This record gives sequence, C-alpha cells and structure tokens, in this order.
Amino acid sequence: MERKLTCIICPLGCEITVQTEDKKVLKVSGHTCPRGKAYAESECTAPKRTLTSTVRCSDGGLVSVKTQTPIPKEKMSECMTILNSVTATLPVSIGDVIVEDVFGSRIVATQNKA
Ligand code: SF4
Repeated sequence: MERKLTCIICPLGCEITVQTEDKKVLKVSGHTCPRGKAYAESECTAPKRTLTSTVRCSDGGLVSVKTQTPIPKEKMSECMTILNSVTATLPVSIGDVIVEDVFGSRIVATQNKA
C-alpha cells in the first residue's frame, strides 16, 4: 500500500511517500531530512497529535491547555473526557502542569489566569 503525506514538522512541507505492508513500513521517499522520515514512519504506524482544549477553573471560567507532547491519536477522545472532569485551581500561569500524566504526556496551561 502506498500513502502520500505532507510533512508537518517544518514549514518546507515535503511531500513524502510511504510504502507499507501489513502496517510495516517498507520504504519512505520524498523526505529531505531524518525528522521527516521519522514523522512519516510514525504517522503510518502509531500516529500522534497534540491536543489543545480548555479546562474548568475554580472561578467557574475556563483556561486554555494543551498536551505538552503529542499523544496517540486514538486516545484524543479519552483525553477530552479526562479534561472535562478536571478543575484547575487559580491562579494559573503559562506552563503550569494541570494534569500530571495523560497517555504519556502532561496537560499544561497555555494562558495566564488570576
Ligand atoms: S522532511 Fe524535513 S525538511 Fe521536509 S518538511 Fe519534513 S522536517 Fe521539513
């Protein structure tokens, strides 16, 4: 099976072709650097995404958050369920850890809120 991807690691956006068989990567072409090859292999075998969302705050408002590192794509929905059950205690600063471990990543604040 052949799959064509646009690399999202840097602004060059190389067009990468990946040949797979039984979920195994046989050949990667079109990448300009090793990071692109690693991205393409990961995307075809175990895709990951950074999740951005909001969580409730102790004042009833919302604060924006994201996963510190990408998490498995198939865990996005479960991660949202976890975030819906979380309440962040104010004050919150950018980079504060809101949830310590969610599918191998942390949930961190992406805004300041007093
Ligand atoms: S393959 Fe390398 S140079 Fe090309 S878009 Fe990906 S990271 Fe950038």
